[in-house]
Amino acid sequence: MEPIWDVIVIGGGQAGLASGFHLKKRGLSFLILEAGGEAAGAWPQYYDNLKLFSPAKYSSLPGLPIESPGDRYPHRDEVIQYLKGYASHFDLPLVYHRRVDQISKESGIFRVTTSCGEKYMARNLISATGSFSRPYTPSIPKQEQFKGTILHSATYRTPALFQDQSVIVVGRGNSAVQIAMELSEVADTTLAVREPVTLIPQRLLGQDIHFWFKLTGFDSFWRFGKSFANGSSVLDLDGYKQRLQAGNPKQKKMFTVFYDNGVIWSDGTQEEVQTIIFATGYRSNVSYIDALGGLDGQGEPEQKNGISKKIPGLYFVGLSGQRSFASATLRGVGPDAEYVVKYIQNNLEKQKNIH
Ligand code: FAD
Repeated sequence: MEPIWDVIVIGGGQAGLASGFHLKKRGLSFLILEAGGEAAGAWPQYYDNLKLFSPAKYSSLPGLPIESPGDRYPHRDEVIQYLKGYASHFDLPLVYHRRVDQISKESGIFRVTTSCGEKYMARNLISATGSFSRPYTPSIPKQEQFKGTILHSATYRTPALFQDQSVIVVGRGNSAVQIAMELSEVADTTLAVREPVTLIPQRLLGQDIHFWFKLTGFDSFWRFGKSFANGSSVLDLDGYKQRLQAGNPKQKKMFTVFYDNGVIWSDGTQEEVQTIIFATGYRSNVSYIDALGGLDGQGEPEQKNGISKKIPGLYFVGLSGQRSFASATLRGVGPDAEYVVKYIQNNLEKQKNIH
């Protein structure tokens, strides 16, 4: 007879690991099912030169600081090592190569089936599968006529491939700006934006901006926070402001239509372009719970603070803007995981008495 776990966590990236930390701390029985072969989430797929937008001391999961001295901004590869080390440090029960395909619920128990046909049972589920595998690209008229290359920032790795090209990066979030900055060193680069990029200074009164976020409780300050979470404000790393003012990269109001060899800008001018990179974000990767219900018309979870509004026992960790503007970042995911795990524990006795 298969065991019935208190919780199954789906996804072993930073959100799944932070959930695992709190589940272990509270003594719940659980497994983490991870589709891949390591506990690093989507980080190995991010672009090669990715440097965090927060310094090391504000970039850790609960219980184990990332090792990096002072105000350094760690590189992507340091995060990958850190996450793998985190899983082994806390001896979290990860089961690799288990992609969850289907979930049903009978008599209050979730039945989880993986792509290799294995079955698991649990009273509660935490969905922690991020969004990287569901990139969002807006549809622009006549896109199918364009003969150049179109890609999403999810598959962008290095500027070297675009040497001497004419490139447009669509978007105004951290990724769009960071990619446009590095491309502008080797290619004729334009940022296509609906509104001008809004920059936030990296340092204020001699302190990193994250010091002030923490001091002021800004993370939970919802109104302003939401605009930051959805990518409309960008940290001014490495002189972005001066470089935008100098026009390298250029910044233009979003184009309205494609033609064979390029785009037509909103002022009617036509420009030949080789490559368009859409840095236009992601949507939640939760299709495996579709059959349970609980997703809205866009396939996004119907939830509040990570608790499903429709399916008792179903939870989320790592959603963008879940409880704060930092919810989908390294430093913000821990408090959300703690909130959800505490809620699960409070309901567990009741669940066990019923079933
Ligand atoms: P993911 O990292 O996507 O992990 C999800 C895991 O779930 C994966 O391991 C995947 O294999 C697994 N999975 C998926 N589907 C299934 C399934 N059906 N069954 C089982 N397992 C499954 N944050 C910061 O704090 N600082 C930064 O500087 C920063 N920079 C960023 C730059 C870029 C370009 C991007 C895209 C994001 C950045 N972030 C940054 C945001 C954030 O930290 C990451 O997006 C983070 O990887 C999200 O973690 P996650 O665990 O929620 O999801």
